[in-house]
Amino acid sequence: MDGSWMPGALALVLLLARGCYTSSEGSWCYDKPECGPGTWLTQEYCNGKRQSPINIRSEKAIHNRSLGAITLTGYDDGKKLQEMINSGKTVDIELEDGLYFTGHGLPAQYAAKSFHFHWGDGDSRPGSEHYIDNRQYPMELHIVHTKNNTSVSDARKDPEGIAVLGFFLEGSEMASGKTAEAWESFIKNLKKVSEKGKHTDLDSTFSLLDLLGPTDFARYFRYPGSLTTPQCNEVVIWTIFPDPILVPPKVVEAFPSELRYTDSSSGPRMQNNFRPLQPIGKREVQASAALKAKRSAASLVAPSTPLLPFLFIATIISSMLV
Ligand SMILES: [Zn+2]
Repeated sequence: MDGSWMPGALALVLLLARGCYTSSEGSWCYDKPECGPGTWLTQEYCNGKRQSPINIRSEKAIHNRSLGAITLTGYDDGKKLQEMINSGKTVDIELEDGLYFTGHGLPAQYAAKSFHFHWGDGDSRPGSEHYIDNRQYPMELHIVHTKNNTSVSDARKDPEGIAVLGFFLEGSEMASGKTAEAWESFIKNLKKVSEKGKHTDLDSTFSLLDLLGPTDFARYFRYPGSLTTPQCNEVVIWTIFPDPILVPPKVVEAFPSELRYTDSSSGPRMQNNFRPLQPIGKREVQASAALKAKRSAASLVAPSTPLLPFLFIATIISSMLV
């Protein structure tokens, strides 16, 4: 046994693995019954017990006083936003090395690799993946990080290999200032990647921090979940910020109107690219210290509203009448 068979066998295994990977990547979609989310249960881990997205019920979340504000390093550097790509499933922005996310409850430092979006159909249909208290938001932004800057393929093998920061986007006339300007610059690029496979360089006029706007990084939910696309690997630590980023209304309209699922300009519009809710099962969602504190203060105020006792009595009377 001199081991000379090894390179050939290894090459064969790698070839087979790549073949599986490629076919799985290509065999799912959002917009057709034969490959849509209803069929994903047959894909690798998609039928597991730690799947995402979920409906986060704030009343059931466990308050964790040690979950303070997260720390983001390098997110204010516009030069790190390298390239925008239409992947045929979403619009993806590749990041250069140098953006890091740290915080309580994380086993390591996580390095940002890319970010992308999920959406519905503009104003008429919301399309976030996560819900908060049964509410779906118009859009959701995911910033994907890997533990200690490992490759995404290595991170897919570690139950804590990937950390995703999730932010909701909502169109509002109240969007203003630097945040609104950053989003307006951002959507100007969508035209250049309207068809699948197109890509464009970004010109450093805005940073990721500009896009996140006035988000309070101390207010978030945390839970263990999965990638929301096949192969649905159960390797993600989710951090979800419940307060939406307000963007100019035309931003929410631009994604489904500018982008196509295929490489044809007359192909189907890219819309409703979100996975339906998954069972939470026995998992625990944690609420950060600041999040719970603010909600407790709000619930102390609520009973003093003078109309509430009357509404309560009125409800009892009306239910007795039915
Ligand atoms: Zn995503």
